[in-house]
Amino acid sequence: MANLPPPGTPPDDMVPVGDLKYAEDSVCPAGCVTPDEELVRFVTNRVLQELQGRTITPESPKLVPVGISARHCHLTEEALAALYGPGAKLHPYRDLRQAGFYAAHETVTVVGPRMRAIENVRILGPTRKYSQVELSRTDGFMLGLSLPVRDSGDLDGTPGATLVGPAGSLRLEKGAIRAIRHIHMSSEAAEAWSLRDRQFVRTEFEGEKGVILTNVLVRVGKGQILEMHLDTDDGNAADLVNGDMMRILD
Ligand SMILES: [Zn+2]
Repeated sequence: MANLPPPGTPPDDMVPVGDLKYAEDSVCPAGCVTPDEELVRFVTNRVLQELQGRTITPESPKLVPVGISARHCHLTEEALAALYGPGAKLHPYRDLRQAGFYAAHETVTVVGPRMRAIENVRILGPTRKYSQVELSRTDGFMLGLSLPVRDSGDLDGTPGATLVGPAGSLRLEKGAIRAIRHIHMSSEAAEAWSLRDRQFVRTEFEGEKGVILTNVLVRVGKGQILEMHLDTDDGNAADLVNGDMMRILD
């Protein structure tokens, strides 16, 4: 039987498939989907996953579970020290589906040129060689930032933002983006489906607010768990929740 979270469970930002929860800051938090709808959705997604099979073969339906990424940031060691104090470390709060990555207990406040702030923006660990804030278009309107769509780490020419932590604040000269739609995929799955790393595909979700998404970047790598990452604007546009399955069209 599906193991659903009890009503009133605190929402999460990025959630493993099968754990039906909702984007931390999505416009429509848990509660606007009735428990019955939730259960139907959970079971449907389980059936689709079973149809696809445990091992991806050329015959497997090209179904990819969706993970909605709420706004979050990646920080360098130095940035973390500026915000949380010298020698500060991230404390894992929840593992993400991609091995080795986690949502940290630590969060930051993001301030933009309109002097408005978004609080509780989750830091994803581990620390990186660059600092980057991943927001939605809606967040950009609120903050007064025109956010380009970029792949992770491709930060030249992107706007900056001010981050505030408990030990200090930090002005990032660049690094505020909307993450490009992308699919994490193992080399085995890519081979079975005749897809290449860095290729763009289209994906479809049927339903009352069904969509076809274009310019979805395929990222093939060893150990990558099959999952499509969308921001909350894309997810909310199609009424998607974590674990919903989208179909690759080409
Ligand atoms: Zn991703």
